[in-house]
Amino acid sequence: PALFGPDRRNSRGWDLAHAPDLAEIEAARAPHRQARWAAGPLIAGTPAPGPACDVINPADPADIVGTLRPASAADVDTALAAAAAWDAPAKERAAVLRRAADLYEENFGEIFALLAREAGKGLPDAVGELREAVDFLRFYANEGEGAEAPPRGLFTCISPWNFPLAIFTGQIAAALAAGNGVLAKPAEQTPLIAHLAVSLLHRAGVPRDCLQLLPGDGATVGAQLTSDARVGGVAFTGSTETARLIRAAMAEHMAPGTPLIAETGGLNAMIVDSTALPEQAVADILTSSFQSAGQRCSALRCLYVQEDIAGPFLTMLQGAMAELRMGDPWELSTDVGPLIEAAAQKDFTAYIARARAEGRVLWQADAPAPGHFLSPTLIRVDSIADLEREIFGPVLHVATFRAEEIDAVTDAINASGYGLTFGLHSRIDDRVQHLAERLQVGNLYVNRNQIGAIVGSQPFGGEGLSGTGPKAGGPHYLARFTARPAAPVNE
Ligand code: GLU
Repeated sequence: PALFGPDRRNSRGWDLAHAPDLAEIEAARAPHRQARWAAGPLIAGTPAPGPACDVINPADPADIVGTLRPASAADVDTALAAAAAWDAPAKERAAVLRRAADLYEENFGEIFALLAREAGKGLPDAVGELREAVDFLRFYANEGEGAEAPPRGLFTCISPWNFPLAIFTGQIAAALAAGNGVLAKPAEQTPLIAHLAVSLLHRAGVPRDCLQLLPGDGATVGAQLTSDARVGGVAFTGSTETARLIRAAMAEHMAPGTPLIAETGGLNAMIVDSTALPEQAVADILTSSFQSAGQRCSALRCLYVQEDIAGPFLTMLQGAMAELRMGDPWELSTDVGPLIEAAAQKDFTAYIARARAEGRVLWQADAPAPGHFLSPTLIRVDSIADLEREIFGPVLHVATFRAEEIDAVTDAINASGYGLTFGLHSRIDDRVQHLAERLQVGNLYVNRNQIGAIVGSQPFGGEGLSGTGPKAGGPHYLARFTARPAAPVNE
């Protein structure tokens, strides 16, 4: 079935409000509650022996989820020497990627368990993530099948811990569908999920020299994979700063014109005007800011509420925040899971302490111990210009505006330089139209939440400091992985 156009069909997924679906999930993930996994380089050659370190559960540091044997510089060399573009016919590559999608779905129990224990993801997030990964595989398989363009050769794919399956898989699937070979470096924090994913892709039929896994840190493995002239393109999702380093390394070591496809940070805003439906807006704010503990680049960071309704609206929002449950993401009753690591918890706690000293913290609850939890927090600001940087956690800033200031507010949002997502709650059609024209963002959502873009129907990506385009899960993405003349970006 097509993943684009009128007869588009996304993966089946699971309905968590439907008891039989839940029972199926519980039975499939239970055997993995205490399991331990091991990750290491998966290369077309023999990895050199080396020391392993523990991978821990961010909700409970005493829970050892597995071990990681990072790739050494010698392993990266071996992988680069063995790497090959995938020269099977496009139809065959597409069939293999579709088989991988089926294998991902069949292994949902193990995948949900790993997403909870290694990445701190609750079931709603885990279901969404597996669906997205499967959609990417089928979407790029379909797109690649119709494409005639030659591949670029080898692609380095560097992915983040916040979508350790979906983004990891999406980059790889696009590169492979276009006929490239892939050197994949997953985030340091989530090598176990990546190891499982690559094993499933190999099992589906991707040749080992066309897809190699090199887990490790950015400063060593990432740096080596982005400064080697044998690499013909880089796909990266992560911070804007790291994208700058990669760009510089590529400029020095690779042929001019080697593509960097980067999806980076955001300082995303939402405007709620006095015609908004408050209950709906509050629910969508909770989802946008606190689902995944705010660890999405699409997440809402700065909320603008029209002054006329701000008093009762913020009371309602704080009341709703007080009901959010933090805890073990394995439990269905949990709304907000942990931050990915202790360093983030420490950093954001210090950030909030400074806001508290200035009398700007409107709401924060106590967070549970001993995991890396941070309570959803509401901080008062005058403008988005007061946000020093992207706080990648459950921290929402709120400002108010008067009706006549709305253009100044959109100017301030644009002036941040980022341009990823924007949310608007308004029932004035002219205003929706006006703001949609003014805001320089990749994904704009009206009267709904602003996260969870769906492959094929909501291509995802930003502009400015938020990324290079083209958008993932959209019709122009795959062309960037080929040696075809430049395709439009940011679409
Ligand atoms: N595509 C995801 C979403 O729409 C965000 C991706 C990211 O955080 O990098 O929520």
